[in-house]
Amino acid sequence: MPELKMSGPFKFTRGECNAKITKISPGNFALGKVHPTKKGFIVQYIGRADSDLNEQIKEHLGDDYTHFKFSYANTAEEAFLKECTNYHEFGGSQKLRNKMHPGKPLKEDIKCPVCFK
Ligand SMILES: [Zn+2]
Repeated sequence: MPELKMSGPFKFTRGECNAKITKISPGNFALGKVHPTKKGFIVQYIGRADSDLNEQIKEHLGDDYTHFKFSYANTAEEAFLKECTNYHEFGGSQKLRNKMHPGKPLKEDIKCPVCFK
């Protein structure tokens, strides 16, 4: 089983985002739901922020995810590399709601560590 290596799951509300994501930082997040009986977190969307995780994750508040997990990253590059790994490990666009492969951070000349795009 792939692992996200993130904190959570927490309820995906504006209040919980503000309460849990207190640092202004690049980072990673996963959106989804908690399985009603098995209690496991079901990943439906993988995302990242290059500068402000708390701001970025809240752009998805209108979507129907009930829970989130997150982790901070030191740099946008680090967040991108983790996002790619999570994206591929959790099935890419075939299984996730992500329509496209993660985009690179601006100004960074790096490639996905999994598919080298
Ligand atoms: Zn890739």
